[in-house]
Amino acid sequence: MAEAVVRELRASFTAGRTRPVEWRAAQLTALVRMIEEKEADISAALQADLAKPHMESYLHEISLAKASCKFSLKGMKSWTKPEKVPSAITTFPSTAQIVPEPLGVVLIISAWNYPFLLSIDPVIGAIAAGNAVVLKPSEIAPATSSLFAKLLPEYVDNSCIKVVEGGVDETTDLLEQKWDKIFYTGNGTIGRIVMTAAAKHLTPVALELGGKCPVIVDSDVDLHVAVKRIAVGKWGCNNGQACIAPDYIITTKSFAPELVDSLKRVIKRFYGEDPLQSADLSRIVNSKHFNRLTSLVEDKKVADKIVYGGQTDEKQLKIAPTLLLDVPLDTALMTGEIFGPYLPIVTVEKIEDSIDFINSKTKPLAAYLFTKNKKLQDNFVTNVPAGGMLVNDVALHLTNPHLPFGGVGESGMGSYHGKFSFDCFTHKKAVLIRGFGGEATARYPPYTQEKQKI
Ligand code: NAD
Repeated sequence: MAEAVVRELRASFTAGRTRPVEWRAAQLTALVRMIEEKEADISAALQADLAKPHMESYLHEISLAKASCKFSLKGMKSWTKPEKVPSAITTFPSTAQIVPEPLGVVLIISAWNYPFLLSIDPVIGAIAAGNAVVLKPSEIAPATSSLFAKLLPEYVDNSCIKVVEGGVDETTDLLEQKWDKIFYTGNGTIGRIVMTAAAKHLTPVALELGGKCPVIVDSDVDLHVAVKRIAVGKWGCNNGQACIAPDYIITTKSFAPELVDSLKRVIKRFYGEDPLQSADLSRIVNSKHFNRLTSLVEDKKVADKIVYGGQTDEKQLKIAPTLLLDVPLDTALMTGEIFGPYLPIVTVEKIEDSIDFINSKTKPLAAYLFTKNKKLQDNFVTNVPAGGMLVNDVALHLTNPHLPFGGVGESGMGSYHGKFSFDCFTHKKAVLIRGFGGEATARYPPYTQEKQKI
């Protein structure tokens, strides 16, 4: 099955079907139309998969996907143009240019937590760059996966853009094929499987992975604004099931009580006295992840550290926003990515110590800092390696198409969004054109003594 799909797409690509800018523009325009006409279906699929509130689906998936299409439509004409560059003295006379070239047939494997955006956004980049594409959505979000399988053939050129649904077996089958690029979003364990499979064919990969995203909260802040932003970036992003949601907070011992009180108040304001009944809070995706999460706080030495929340409803797969203070650092909650509604707070003596704390862990996908202190901001930007960072807010950096989005180290490799998506699926071909003049005799043997004097 996978072999036949790749064969068909390669034939379309080799025939040059995906290369014309007009073809690319027609596909992206069709995707905009699809998003506009099927907004209710997309929102219903996200509700079915995650109980995602419509407002969240609209703000975080639907509108961003549409904006991404429009951004590529606008930029594509100039992005596809060869870029003239200066000639070197060694090649005089000549003209030199960088010609953007589509890679070929690419595979996109996406994750369940933002199942619409994480699938469509790389597809947009692959199309803009002139590639044929297979999208493999996540089987953990089955409603969105089957919606893609139904909608994409209705809107785009099915001889060049295809959806293959399935889980491990189907993905393994896909990974055995020869691709020109594999773009994978998900956890690092599977990322290693993807990279190993790609290595067999020397296929380049982009790996959009996760990790623990830290949030430093200094006392020199507008606390009222800071806690609202942290809360919406944690529980208002799929109830913490987001790769760039805050994983843990670091603050000083002296400021922690005030911060905890403010966070409690904002959680109550956003989700009421009983958050399990709130329609504004996504559920946990399935019982496997529900059990994974609840087991993180089962141990008494973690459970004793809950200072707010902790309620669960196994039937509805809901977990309330939960704050924990000074959880032992050797527990699973503090060593692995949480990817859920638990928000532990780590305390340090001085706020500057938080930078060493972050740097003692693997490089995060996103790092956040709340402070008015310019010196601390500079220290953070200069000394914390991370995929991306944001000062005085969380998660929003992903909405700026002029910024690359991607990880570093264990949080991934390669980046996308805006023009970076185009670049991700493009080879920059070096092209040098010479005439027949400008012969330098020293270049040619025999290398006589006289020539070697030069
Ligand atoms: P997932 O379970 O949906 O898996 C991702 C994809 O891998 C799916 O399409 C799945 O079919 C495929 N897969 C699963 N097992 C496989 C195997 N054995 N061989 C080949 N393919 C396989 O998603 P997940 O991994 O639970 O996603 C959550 C993780 O992804 C978190 O770590 C999160 O931080 C990260 N993430 C990163 C980003 C980003 O943009 N950097 C975005 C979302 C999620």
